[in-house]
Amino acid sequence: MSEIDVIVIGTGMGGGTIGRHLAEAGARVLFLEKGKTQHPNEERQLHAEMFEPTGRLVRGLWPAPLDATVDGHTSRSYAPIGSGVGGSSSFYAATLERPERHDIDHSSARAHPTGGWPIDYDTLAPRYDRAEELYEICGAPDPLSPEPQAALIAPPPLTRADESLKASFEANGLHPYRLHAAIRYEADGTPQQTLDGRTAGVLPALASGKAGLRDRCDVQRILPGPDGIAVEAICQGRAETFNARQVVLAAGAFGTPRLAMRSELPDPSGLIGRNLMFHLNEMIALWPKDKAASGPSKALSLRDLYHLEGQRFGTVQAMGIDVTYGEIVYFLDQTLARSKMPKLPGQWLALRAAAGIAARIFGQAKIFVGLLEDLPYAENRVKLTDDDTLACDYTIHPELRARRKAFRKAMAQAFRGHLKWFLSMQPELNFGHGCGTMKMGHDPATSVTDPQGRLRECPGLWVADASLFPTSMGVNPSLTIAALALHVGDAILETLKKGPTP
Ligand SMILES: Cc1cc2nc3c(=O)[nH]c(=O)nc-3n(C[C@H](O)[C@H](O)[C@H](O)COP(=O)(O)OP(=O)(O)OC[C@H]3O[C@@H](n4cnc5c(N)ncnc54)[C@H](O)[C@@H]3O)c2cc1C
Repeated sequence: MSEIDVIVIGTGMGGGTIGRHLAEAGARVLFLEKGKTQHPNEERQLHAEMFEPTGRLVRGLWPAPLDATVDGHTSRSYAPIGSGVGGSSSFYAATLERPERHDIDHSSARAHPTGGWPIDYDTLAPRYDRAEELYEICGAPDPLSPEPQAALIAPPPLTRADESLKASFEANGLHPYRLHAAIRYEADGTPQQTLDGRTAGVLPALASGKAGLRDRCDVQRILPGPDGIAVEAICQGRAETFNARQVVLAAGAFGTPRLAMRSELPDPSGLIGRNLMFHLNEMIALWPKDKAASGPSKALSLRDLYHLEGQRFGTVQAMGIDVTYGEIVYFLDQTLARSKMPKLPGQWLALRAAAGIAARIFGQAKIFVGLLEDLPYAENRVKLTDDDTLACDYTIHPELRARRKAFRKAMAQAFRGHLKWFLSMQPELNFGHGCGTMKMGHDPATSVTDPQGRLRECPGLWVADASLFPTSMGVNPSLTIAALALHVGDAILETLKKGPTP
């Protein structure tokens, strides 16, 4: 490409979506992606043994470990964070749900001292509609929602196991509905393809003829100047510099603030990298009353506990995973790596034996997860390191512990009468759901970008990924990342229309 209108750094959910939006509107886009062009989502899985940097990059995983200091205790593990075309969405679970009006609108968010969303739900609603089209969302309306219902694709029929669970949930007074998923199904109901940042973002952008892609291109520094922005990168081992007047940071909740800090971009609020949020995962195994049923299912979701008795909890949804030996080993490895217990010789072998037994016990169970909203605190932050190692400081505040306790109690009550087992004893941070580290807002003192995602004091530099989130909400982040990318993309198109300022 001879001339570039917009450089997009990162090709995950945010980067892929904004790149497609801009390219299809006629802008010349260049994607720069640290990882490599990937195999389709279906060919890759998370494995416990995937601890080798090159192997991780080949599979689209961030190559280096995460040093997470949680409540003062530092542990090293490999976070489920993507690095390849498609980013983390390349291996996500593809549950794409809208948040609720109260999540976005000022009235509820203002109650929090750091302030809420600078745009309202009605501004984002058409972008949610469009994101649901782009990601071919199938599912059914939430019966508890007062909002106009989006036009979703009809999902395949429920399995016997899910029919059984749905009936017993309803008997408990709950309101299950067909989970919203970015999955294309075959006529017989088997999943054919997952729509993600690569398949619904980068590939259609390239097909438009307006976009180009450089993969294995690790951006090192951003240098804003009076005549545009220079982007310095190491591409397949060679130093290269790219230039454009508009540059989008879409390197994810860890990658974007790391790049901003490494480039020493102006930070008048002092909040770059701060307000880091995750969700807390409350995983629960439920055994359907219909014992004949088996197989993984990703069909049901419920919002009865979303906002209960004045407390902010979140959705409860089917995870669609088999409780296999590999999944259990991965889960136990992660838990052990983060535990404060001394590491003993032979414990990894013992853990694998335990996983074998657990796989037999849990064979018939359906795994559901409650996503507990995390609130923003400035001291929770991404830290800059000298290499690819990721690092963060995170404090689990007493209010989060108290909400977790209440959420688990509400889940146990909601699923009364079912054989059930909570899978986590300790608070389980969902490191794949990081957000909030380049917060958008009206007030320059409490936010990093303006309401359009424009970095303050850096003309032409924008953010379009999970790091914009002012709050984490009680739903999975990706549909909102896509809706925000469309919102930021519209502001960039307006800027391009005006042309360069003399
Ligand atoms: C196992 C798992 C399951 C999940 N399931 C769901 C789900 O069901 N629903 C949902 O909504 N969300 C889910 N998520 C979360 C979701 O995948 C992320 O929230 C989302 O992909 C984040 O999008 P993003 O654009 O902010 O960043 P990412 O998708 O992480 O993309 C960032 C990209 O930037 C690149 N990058 C970083 N630094 C640089 C650099 N210096 N130079 C060049 N490129 C760089 C990275 O390589 C990466 O490709 C899941 C996550 C995981 C890990």
